[in-house]
Amino acid sequence: MAQPSATREDLLTRVRFYRDLGLTEFYRRPVDPELLALLAARPVEAPSVPFLPTNLLEDQLGPPLQAVHGSSEIAVAVEPTDRAAALQLIRDEIGECTRCALHAGRNKLVFGDGSPNARLMFVGEGPGADEDAQGLPFVGKAGQLLNNMIAAMGLKREEVYIANVVKCRPPGNRVPEQEEGATCSPFLFRQIDVIRPQVLVALGATAATWLLGARQPLAGLRGRVHAFRGMQLIVTYHPAYLLRDPRQKKEAWADLQIAMKELGLKPPAKS
Ligand code: SF4
Repeated sequence: MAQPSATREDLLTRVRFYRDLGLTEFYRRPVDPELLALLAARPVEAPSVPFLPTNLLEDQLGPPLQAVHGSSEIAVAVEPTDRAAALQLIRDEIGECTRCALHAGRNKLVFGDGSPNARLMFVGEGPGADEDAQGLPFVGKAGQLLNNMIAAMGLKREEVYIANVVKCRPPGNRVPEQEEGATCSPFLFRQIDVIRPQVLVALGATAATWLLGARQPLAGLRGRVHAFRGMQLIVTYHPAYLLRDPRQKKEAWADLQIAMKELGLKPPAKS
């Protein structure tokens, strides 16, 4: 039998390490031939987390691993110049999606917005009424507050990327059901894999739950850096919650300062 390549051996070691930790669930997705062709055309040099289609692992690791959360998924490494095209392929694959019940009340699907090369990415729960009307994430009052938070970090909105766990508005802005999140979140993970921001900020408990793969109280997740598939993940309050309880803005700012430290950012000087 042929010896595994160094990259494959590294990958197998990593997967065994995850299994030793008890992480046996892997998000599975169909391999997109167009995306693979795109990647093959521009081979990535020494990616921090190598991409291999999951089926390449099965002969070495035994039976297929089952779906779900992103924390143990093998990530895609994409050349910066290809990221916009790779995101478009994901958008094309979503199409006029009817994969879950949320499509029934949707006006506009909200894919995501911002720079494909962002070093910082925000992840929220799902579109609200304004987002559903415009097809863009965080454009209502909560979006205005998020814009202010981004500006306070010394960044412009167009320099970051913003997406949600589900891409269609849950009725009455309710929390997405388990099945809805499980159906839609793989698209979010693929967006994250393409953008590969240095820092991810989970806005609220729903985003934190789906990204980290475990439901925990927000208080236990805030105030520190979580390792997330070779990236850094910080959890903070959802802007909509901050609008309801502005006293927590100070805590949210402390979380954002952790993100800024990781990114090497300093707040803009006050004029
Ligand atoms: Fe499809 Fe996601 Fe919309 Fe459900 S929420 S219909 S999975 S795009």
